[in-house]
Amino acid sequence: MSYIIKGKTTDWELVIGLETHIEVLSASKLFSGASADYNPGISPNTQVSMVDCAMPGMLPVLNEYCVEQAIKMGLGLNAEISRHSRFARKQYFYPDLPQGYQISQPADEPPVVGRGWVEIMGDDGAPKKIFIERAHLEQDAGKLKHDVHPTKSFADYNRTGVALLEIVTFLDVKNPENNSYITSPDEAERYLREIREIARALGVSKANMEEGSMRADVNVSVRPVGSTEFRTRTETKNMVSFKFIKSAIEYEARRQIEAYESGGTVSQDTMRYSQSDGTTSVMRSKEDALDYRYFPDPDLLELHIDDEMIERIRRTMPELPAATRARYTDVLGLAEYDAARLTESTDISRWFDAAVGGKKERAKPIANWMISELFAHPENWDEKNAVDTAEPGMPRIIRPSDLADLVDMIAEKVINGKQAKEIFIKMLDGETGTPRDIAEKFGMQQITDTSAIESAVDDVIAKNPAQVEQYRAGKTGLLGFFVGGVMKATGGKANPSVVNELLRKKLN
Ligand code: ADP
Ligand code: MG
Repeated sequence: MSYIIKGKTTDWELVIGLETHIEVLSASKLFSGASADYNPGISPNTQVSMVDCAMPGMLPVLNEYCVEQAIKMGLGLNAEISRHSRFARKQYFYPDLPQGYQISQPADEPPVVGRGWVEIMGDDGAPKKIFIERAHLEQDAGKLKHDVHPTKSFADYNRTGVALLEIVTFLDVKNPENNSYITSPDEAERYLREIREIARALGVSKANMEEGSMRADVNVSVRPVGSTEFRTRTETKNMVSFKFIKSAIEYEARRQIEAYESGGTVSQDTMRYSQSDGTTSVMRSKEDALDYRYFPDPDLLELHIDDEMIERIRRTMPELPAATRARYTDVLGLAEYDAARLTESTDISRWFDAAVGGKKERAKPIANWMISELFAHPENWDEKNAVDTAEPGMPRIIRPSDLADLVDMIAEKVINGKQAKEIFIKMLDGETGTPRDIAEKFGMQQITDTSAIESAVDDVIAKNPAQVEQYRAGKTGLLGFFVGGVMKATGGKANPSVVNELLRKKLN
């Protein structure tokens, strides 16, 4: 079930490469002591040091904490950490860049984080590895404001020099059959979500697209299904929402297919995406490609990382989504799809773990309740599990202990599945108290006492002699009729399996 676009003459597949920038969480900037907090509530140009605004003679000093954050993310990406890497100046002129160059890592040398991989759910529902080529540390630029004055633009340098980690996916050009890359818009979204969850679980970045602490450049090419070479790609810059990224990929792929099918070619252009109509257009072509004149920054020493530092960081690593998924399938016996849904965010998996509470037998029913009921009622649950009590008149927030109670009560045969659903709906509607309280309040305890059920069974059999005769003559489909009669007589409280068992015994 791979993602294919039907063209006029042939079927086409997509090749997607993402360059994802995440803003590194750190008190201060990558090379200066200024605060790295640039949120829009802070007055412009109040978190800018002499280094950030490039005063002559000011020297950058590497923030070791940002390096540790990069290593942590690298370990989270199952990547090699380079023992030696360098910083380089990438020269370009733009008013959001006071230095006139961005300090980054050289494009043609191993950066701090080398080859790695992340695991996502592929379009066929099975786990898929997406290979990472590299991740490097660099400075962010400032922000230009064009909308505060009719004729003037303003620059805010609070973000200037904040550490970014750029994570680049790998395309194995020498082995085109190696398909460990992104091949559809949905896979692109799942990859970005996985990066986001890893970064958040590690505390490396808020990785929030709306806030701009995560942004992606999207490289797309197409090729006929079965072809073994990669074709020319385009790069759409600075995308800040999953929805727009998916739409840009779809639009770009169709545009390229149309170009090929009408006898044209695709040129290696840098594109911009228009949010208003979902189209891409050329921003600059390969011919005007910028020459960044990279060279090693003479003001900075080489970055040396030793094994001891890597091991020290490794010891602090929490369980990451891929390991959580493996635990859910291998230890708790969940299906791969369910495990993927429940690890879409660390908040969701924490919620699930809290509900399971180490009781393995709860895992499958709780997964089912969450995926089929809870996810459908976002107003009724709080992924973060932070809200303690609902406001009066507000939708009731379902707690992990609520689902634990429900599935336990079913397992203990205190209530049946239908009653559990009724209790659940009452909770959604704002009924307070635990499911056990609610069951009691509404007299929903299931009848498992065989003698009580037996008398209802006898009664139904006695009252319907004609149906009994038909059943015994072979019309066994009538069993449901008798079950219905008993359930009705017991107000829906009888344990259905006890009812079935007794009916079968007495009718045969
Ligand atoms: P840049 O030219 O932007 O410095 P790279 O050559 O490192 O970058 O590639 C940037 C991204 O584009 C990587 O994720 C890479 O896998 C991806 N990429 C390279 N070639 C193709 C292609 N033919 N189709 C789709 N993506 C590609
Ligand atoms: Mg690029």
